[in-house]
Amino acid sequence: MKRERETAVPEEGSGTWRDDVPERVSAVLSDALEMGATDVHVDPVGSNAYRVRYRVDGAIHPKAEISKAEGQHLVNEIKVAAQFTPDRAFTALENRFTLDTDEGPREVRVTVLPTAKREAAHLRVLSPPSEVLRPTELGLSEAHLSLIRRTLRRPEGLILISGPTGAGKTMTLYSLASFLDLETVIAVSVEDPVEYDLRYVRQVQADPERGLSMPAAVKAVLRMDPDIILVGEIRDAQSAITAVRAAASGRFVLATTHATDAVLAVEACLYSSVPRHLLGSALRLVISQALVRSVCGHCAEPRELSGEERELFQAEGLAPPSCVPSAQGCEACHHFGYRGRTGLFQVVALDREMAVAVSGTHGAEALRSRIAQRGLPSLLQDGLTKVASGVTTMEEVRSLHVPGESEKGDPD
Ligand SMILES: [Zn+2]
Repeated sequence: MKRERETAVPEEGSGTWRDDVPERVSAVLSDALEMGATDVHVDPVGSNAYRVRYRVDGAIHPKAEISKAEGQHLVNEIKVAAQFTPDRAFTALENRFTLDTDEGPREVRVTVLPTAKREAAHLRVLSPPSEVLRPTELGLSEAHLSLIRRTLRRPEGLILISGPTGAGKTMTLYSLASFLDLETVIAVSVEDPVEYDLRYVRQVQADPERGLSMPAAVKAVLRMDPDIILVGEIRDAQSAITAVRAAASGRFVLATTHATDAVLAVEACLYSSVPRHLLGSALRLVISQALVRSVCGHCAEPRELSGEERELFQAEGLAPPSCVPSAQGCEACHHFGYRGRTGLFQVVALDREMAVAVSGTHGAEALRSRIAQRGLPSLLQDGLTKVASGVTTMEEVRSLHVPGESEKGDPD
């Protein structure tokens, strides 16, 4: 199972398999994993202490402060685990190692950086391949799932998955790929970085430092006779144009893009100089996504809505529920009040009328107007619906600032 990975700072060499991870590091990581953390931050605070903090389901949870000596020991052991050479204390160090856990090997990416005070460390626990969620676990409604499944049966076209950083776009991309019969088609992905193993997908890692930029990688995989191309994520105009051209010429392309709703994703494509008529003819579906924490089912308690919350439901055209969940905290959720996360989605299928709208001079605004006319639920409406059904809380949905129908300007 030894897996070696390239790092952003190649001088430190490739990642290593460690079954002798130093005691402090292994204790912190097993505590963090037990709490479901994805990240461990170790920072110097004041002149005499360190603080260890975990990121669980996207939120930061501070642990108790530790002494300066203990903190420095921990940082040093982290450097040993990642095989950093001790004399390179004044540069940024990055490497990976593999931790042996009861649930199998977990890859850990380590960054150590000198701050104004002392060295700070960050450990990212990378999700193992088995944790790619099934499409039904993402938080998509049955109607959305069947719409996506129908779209994926078509031989060509583009599906865009949009959202801000950390919204779970890559997970959705990989998860939806499982709807495809990947054994009987040639599927190639271009990723930066490759985060999970996908069976039957030729996964290409874009690596600009070694001369394989994202646009160059997308162009190269097009020459490899693919039926399906997965792009995570489109960050530049050239990749956008290449991906849309591929989708308009007989390939199926699934790509993620950084935009906070479906219309802005289309706008970003047009802004990247993707020809309007090409986007209009290739685009089949835009899935816009945000992530919220799921309230703990063991300890959540119902509470009444405030007047303002009631008005928010009404403004979004939804009936206010009689009560909504309020996060509490118990043993099962490590007293966070939340366990795991779920997606909020807006799914826009581009039929002929919508495609014509995208191809027109005011593509994005015309699309917004069509979406409003059809009454397609916004991210905020999906969030409020999930609050009403007890999946998450008002506090989570409101913390996202997701665009709702009432916040949008007049359609053109
Ligand atoms: Zn709980």
